[in-house]
Amino acid sequence: MKIETKAVHSGDRKKDPNAPGGFIPVTTPIYTATSYIYESTAKLDRVLGREEEGFCYSRYDNPTSTALEELVTALEGGQGALACSSGMAAMHIAVLAVLMDRRKSVLAASALYGATTSLLTKVLEPLGIEINFMDVCNLDEVRQKIADFKPGCVLMETISNPLLRVGAMDRIAEMTRAAGAALLVDNTFATPLLVRPLELGAHLSVHSATKFLAGHGDVLGGVIIADQEHTERLRSLSRTVGPVLGPFEAYLTMRGIKTFVLRVERQCSNACRIATWLSSNPRVSRVHYLADPNHPDAAVIRRLLPEGLYGAVVSFELKDARKEDVMAFMDRLKLVVPGTSLGDVHSLILYPAIASHRDIAPKQRERMGIHDGLVRLCAGIEAVEDIIADLDQALAGSGSS
Ligand code: PLP
Repeated sequence: MKIETKAVHSGDRKKDPNAPGGFIPVTTPIYTATSYIYESTAKLDRVLGREEEGFCYSRYDNPTSTALEELVTALEGGQGALACSSGMAAMHIAVLAVLMDRRKSVLAASALYGATTSLLTKVLEPLGIEINFMDVCNLDEVRQKIADFKPGCVLMETISNPLLRVGAMDRIAEMTRAAGAALLVDNTFATPLLVRPLELGAHLSVHSATKFLAGHGDVLGGVIIADQEHTERLRSLSRTVGPVLGPFEAYLTMRGIKTFVLRVERQCSNACRIATWLSSNPRVSRVHYLADPNHPDAAVIRRLLPEGLYGAVVSFELKDARKEDVMAFMDRLKLVVPGTSLGDVHSLILYPAIASHRDIAPKQRERMGIHDGLVRLCAGIEAVEDIIADLDQALAGSGSS
């Protein structure tokens, strides 16, 4: 089945053996019970001992979350999944699962979502885990650092934030596997429509489901899709650590995923039109977008992403703008929402210098290429003409050029 069909059907229509008349709900309901009983204690004993399938306690598993896990497993071609209470909870337990029986060393992309960098340097490093960084767009550096540091875990994002760089995940997976390490990928920006990391050799793929998967700005959640070995480790770790997603959020995420292909296709085409329009605007000095033939990773993008689907995120620099100019531009927007998220049905704009990269010293931010004039826009599903008209009026009021 194709991804569009899986998104609509996978995970649903489980038969409840005790339902009167044997009815089957067409879509998965919200199971709020925290514990489950059976006709005999002997059966509960077998379920608790995992000799028989079933549910007994919602920290272990829950029918609504299990349906969501089946759905995302099907979307990304994994062997299993774990639904978590946030993208960061998912990332945390995924790193722990990878390092359980490997060298306690992580080699990570230098351009990562801020909280992921903090997880590595402020939580895991003080616990004794070795952390090193690399430029994932430089394969010679990746090869050398894997040889030097012998990491247990290699960690990267499919599309980096906010400069939208794309590392050669297939080649990095080969190097990681050859070194006996596991490749963990944050696939939030790409979604399973653009890239399915496990098909490219990754061991685990993590999403902030808060973004494109749920898609409506009303759910906080995360999912990890993994191969068999890591699924089992994730399950047993999760039973003890308990980072699980609640049934209401699992339901909303499943509901969101049913339309995610339509939404993301529209968001990608809107982003492409916006990027083209911005490129010819005299008040904009630079546009970062994956469809750009001069993108520094154009060859990798052409190899790994489907034609015409280059993501919903466009980053651009306001010409000669200082912090106060960018903030005034954002205040003039009437439709595009200045919210600290992405992937929603409505267009969202974020100013990295005060949000995702706030804790990075200005000089270091400059060195990373995240200049004071840079903003990140994630296109929603609105009529693209309306989004462009809003950007146009807000840029026209700019006194910076
Ligand atoms: N990964 C990426 C790429 C993100 O953008 C985010 C949040 O913005 C996260 C992970 C963390 O997700 P959450 O906010 O659901 O914990």
